[in-house]
Amino acid sequence: MPYHCVAYGCGRTAEDGATLFKFPRDPEEFRKWEKQVQRIRTHWIATPNSYLCSEHFGKEYFESRPATGTVKLKPGAVPTVSSSKLYHVSTECNS
Ligand SMILES: [Zn+2]
Repeated sequence: MPYHCVAYGCGRTAEDGATLFKFPRDPEEFRKWEKQVQRIRTHWIATPNSYLCSEHFGKEYFESRPATGTVKLKPGAVPTVSSSKLYHVSTECNS
């Protein structure tokens, strides 16, 4: 089963062109991420195999690695999961 974003109304996978980030190992960070998702999915419980996609992180949290073409999250990055579907769509192909 492919990994998918756990945010309500999102569910993106790598096949959708999304970059998925695994929940942090640090328990405190883990809880922060879980809480963000729980703002909307109140009964949802995060697991170590939960993922969030790049839609839910501000640009300031990304460390780009142009050499490898991969994107990394900076330590301490906290997602923003809004209740109004996707709060921020920076791509213009969603017309
Ligand atoms: Zn997502």
